[in-house]
Amino acid sequence: MPDKRKHSGEVVAKKRFGQNFLHDERVLDRIVNESQVDKDTLVVEIGPGLGALTKRLCQKAGFVLAYEIDYTLIEPLKDTLQFYNNYELINKDVLTCDVEADIKKYRGNLSKVYLVANLPYYITTPIILGLLSTTKLITRYVVMVQKEVGMRICSKPKTKDYNALSLAVMYRANAKVLFDVDRHAFTPVPNVTSSVICLDLLKENKYELLSEGLFFKLIKEAFSMRRKTLVNNLSGYYDKELINKMLRDLKYKPAVRAEELGIEDFINMSNYFLKEKDIYKKAYSKVNLALEVMDTEGGYHKVNNLMAPIDLYDEMYFKYDDEIILEDNPYGDDNIIVKAAKAFKEAFGIKGGCKIICKKNIPAAAGLAGGSTDGATTLLGLCELYDINKKDKRIYDIAASLGSDVPFFLYNKIALCTNRGEVINTLDFDFKPIKVLLVKPELGLSTAAVYKEYKYDGSSKSDKINNIIDALKNDDIKSLKENIFNDLTTPALKLNADLNKMYNDINKTTTIFLSGSGPTLFIVDPNKTTVNKIKKEYKDIFIYEGLIKAKN
Ligand code: SAM
Repeated sequence: MPDKRKHSGEVVAKKRFGQNFLHDERVLDRIVNESQVDKDTLVVEIGPGLGALTKRLCQKAGFVLAYEIDYTLIEPLKDTLQFYNNYELINKDVLTCDVEADIKKYRGNLSKVYLVANLPYYITTPIILGLLSTTKLITRYVVMVQKEVGMRICSKPKTKDYNALSLAVMYRANAKVLFDVDRHAFTPVPNVTSSVICLDLLKENKYELLSEGLFFKLIKEAFSMRRKTLVNNLSGYYDKELINKMLRDLKYKPAVRAEELGIEDFINMSNYFLKEKDIYKKAYSKVNLALEVMDTEGGYHKVNNLMAPIDLYDEMYFKYDDEIILEDNPYGDDNIIVKAAKAFKEAFGIKGGCKIICKKNIPAAAGLAGGSTDGATTLLGLCELYDINKKDKRIYDIAASLGSDVPFFLYNKIALCTNRGEVINTLDFDFKPIKVLLVKPELGLSTAAVYKEYKYDGSSKSDKINNIIDALKNDDIKSLKENIFNDLTTPALKLNADLNKMYNDINKTTTIFLSGSGPTLFIVDPNKTTVNKIKKEYKDIFIYEGLIKAKN
């Protein structure tokens, strides 16, 4: 069925894109005037439509950066804007764009950045909250929204419109309604009245908020059922006793409702809950079921590294602190846990810090990635503490910058890790946990020296890797043992006579493999006799009986 919502005889207004074109000249002029756009302003416009507002903005502004999702509007738009050259049209869904990066690209010397738009109403909230939280470059928002939404955004405590959206905006901006717009100012005529609102970004963050993630979750939960008390609304999220203790400690009445509280109250509550959090995490180790090392490229070796988690882990505790403190840390800032925490704080603009305890069970410098897993688990622990989505790209980027093996531990799942090892392809199938015996001789082996000793012969081992994956899928331990390989075995054995001797002694009776760049050796699915024999023969070294798993 063709859409009958026609505009100007040619363009069909699409309901799914929230297309209601503003034709009232006085309203258009008023939006531009109230925004106080001038030649020193870069204007971001979302949804230029047929360009009625865009044209006026081009006249007044230094530059206009406009995002329009509908490709059928691009030609008519260019036609409307034919006499201007101070604009860029981006034919994309704005919600998928890095608006801050685009602003930086087009801004030039312009000193101000404003958003001026007649917004598509179906995505008003994600647009406004998304931009407020991802960029501080836009200092003013003059936007047309549905009247009810505008009232909610601009409302104050103890009014009927006051809600989580008002608070989310209030945290970053001063908001006010500029004027209402009759629905007949648009073609096609919408069912609702509209309002133009103005948000002016707060100069600097004036609130002492310690965790934005927690604050945003808290306000959402607090207003989830309007008629319920705060205790009831939060009880799905926090322990009831803790909520009551918070109310007592911060001197609120037990039956207080969210609508009675102002932004400072929610900030205090959010800081209180943050300080009460105790996070415990296991930092799991791994073995390499396949480690194919290829030629060097740009100073590093490319690898195909099939890593599987094992059930050996370090134990990590995280608790809010004003500073980043790692207990019992003899390495200072050079410790990967401290580096991860500092990079996290910097990337997410966090004011406070964290006290971290790491109880080591994984031997260091063993080829079991004890350091890498602690680095990754620090990032995961801090995400949980500060309510940050662990899938945020910045988490992966920090992990990759800490070391090639680190990103793997963000997933805790069997994965084929490629390039330097930092490109993670998780294998999404399950297999029965497989017994493993780890034996770590007391000797030092430098990873750099092992890689240096390695000679690449140009052959591909992708068949072997596929065989390992099939063996895991079919629980075929025999085939698994026949196919596990590690290209660093020969160089590692060559570099250390003691390791060579141990490897060969054990290998006489049962197949043994090297993990990573060593020196830990492992036996897959060992029988009781082998386990007892090895425990008896190698009394004074680290031996661990555990499980190889698909995921932890
Ligand atoms: N600015 C024009 C005016 O005032 O007449 C049009 C406003 S109309 C209410 C909303 C505009 O946003 C439409 O042109 C629509 O195609 C566009 N739009 C809808 N969803 C969008 C999205 N996700 N990204 C960019 N533009 C979008």
